[in-house]
Amino acid sequence: MSEPALRKEAARERQPESALQQREWQFRRLLERLPAGAYTCDTEGLITYYNPHAVQIWGRAPQLNDPVDRFCGSFKLFAVDGSPIAHSACWMALALQTGEDYNGQEIIIERPDGQRITALAHASPIRDDSGKLLAAVNVLVDISDRKRAEDALKEADRSKNEFLATLAHELRNPLAPIRNAVEVLLLSGPHPEMQGMLDVIERQTRQMTRLIDELLDLARISSNKLELCKDRIELAEILHTAAETSRPLIEACGQEFVVTFPPKPIALDGDLTRLAQVISNLLNNAAKYTVREGRIWLWAERQGSEAVITVRDTGMGIPAEMLPRIFDMFTQVDRSLNRSQGGLGIGLTLARRLVELHDGTITAHSDGPGEGSEFVVRLPAVGEPAAALRPPGRDRFAALPALSLRILVVDDNQDSAESLGTLLKLMGNDIRTAHDGLEAVAAAAEFRPEVVLLDIGLPKMDGYEAARAIREQPWGKGMVLIAATGWGQEGDRRLSQEAGFDHHLVKPVDLAALVQLLEKAAADRSA
Ligand code: ADP
Repeated sequence: MSEPALRKEAARERQPESALQQREWQFRRLLERLPAGAYTCDTEGLITYYNPHAVQIWGRAPQLNDPVDRFCGSFKLFAVDGSPIAHSACWMALALQTGEDYNGQEIIIERPDGQRITALAHASPIRDDSGKLLAAVNVLVDISDRKRAEDALKEADRSKNEFLATLAHELRNPLAPIRNAVEVLLLSGPHPEMQGMLDVIERQTRQMTRLIDELLDLARISSNKLELCKDRIELAEILHTAAETSRPLIEACGQEFVVTFPPKPIALDGDLTRLAQVISNLLNNAAKYTVREGRIWLWAERQGSEAVITVRDTGMGIPAEMLPRIFDMFTQVDRSLNRSQGGLGIGLTLARRLVELHDGTITAHSDGPGEGSEFVVRLPAVGEPAAALRPPGRDRFAALPALSLRILVVDDNQDSAESLGTLLKLMGNDIRTAHDGLEAVAAAAEFRPEVVLLDIGLPKMDGYEAARAIREQPWGKGMVLIAATGWGQEGDRRLSQEAGFDHHLVKPVDLAALVQLLEKAAADRSA
């Protein structure tokens, strides 16, 4: 009702006589102007009063003292999860039954026209001086707009994650052939001037791959699609792998790097690659945010039931007010800094999520600008480490002995197939390439390769079908089939195994990993 209309109506009303009546009249006016639904029920649950806003929320005006409308003026009520709630279980009814307050409880009210309102209910009992329950009041605040805005935000966040995942996935594909081509050129002993340029391309594509992988990982984690390959591992392995990954950057930045391994083995259950990625990320940051001649320490120890890894640097430090925020997505202390290092501000977000997936914590400490930084990762340790540790991964493949395997490389991206083919040829293998599933099966029948590196997403016939077709043939039973796909989740690995693949590599294919598989194939052949 408009202001003048309300005034007119008030003037029409009989002027209250006693002070008590006047107070009651004031309270009524107050309730009528309240931008929230308010109503009262007696101890039987019969509605004794409601204000105009309650009618707006319910979408109807119930009869006072009518048993049909016990506890609530709306016929249909739902919980937040959408399940129906009986009137006798609504917040007003509970306040009357238990004599307790229920504040800010979410409830969904369906109006007779079918429209649903999300409201916060604040139900409280009313007692007399002796404490006897007389009635209860419920105040309903319509939060439907806020809910809609929240849902829209969630949806926008979901589409953003999906977009980032697709973007990263698509950007990854062209990188593999570029990296292969550079490797080929480097192996061919280029002119010294060219060598420098090729090093630039190699470094920059590696950096780009790292950024894209971070994006992809983050998008996967945000949509709960990142799976860990957990194993019983040793803490020293994590340190070793991370230190080896980050050492070139630290050396290029001219800093002193001190690694201290724990005196005794410490075992934990975790994904070695992912945990090494976390620590390497912290080391790379330490290198990025520390001047030349600075120092970086990496050490690990057992503290009670925890395996604790610490990365400390003598670098630029972190202001106290930024410490709680640096793990948030896209947060950077000084955006103008280090742009040449190409950070997206998601490395620490990813590190925290990966550590949390291992039931661990990560914290940052710094005495302020110029005072250096310290990052501490705490993970649950387990009893004793496994007796045998996995052999350390090999990252140089160029110096390997020639394998002389017959290998069929199948990829619909011609550049990918040709560049990888050339690289494998330079290593002394006999290579054929194919670019769709049908061509792959035909080439396998004719060329009889010992190893087939088969992309999954192929035209005409996908990689799974092609693998099945090859396995069905007498000549295809003993071939080593390696799947190369953009997706490395448990489900994808299972699918490729079911199709008859022996191994599963995630694209862009890590050459060291591929070479390890090829070496094994060559060794098995000799045996
Ligand atoms: P990026 O390094 O890509 O910007 P991160 O998420 O890895 O993103 O780090 C977020 C921010 O935290 C960095 O931009 C930097 O401001 C700060 N930071 C991280 N590590 C260090 C460190 N060792 N010393 C100083 N500042 C750091």
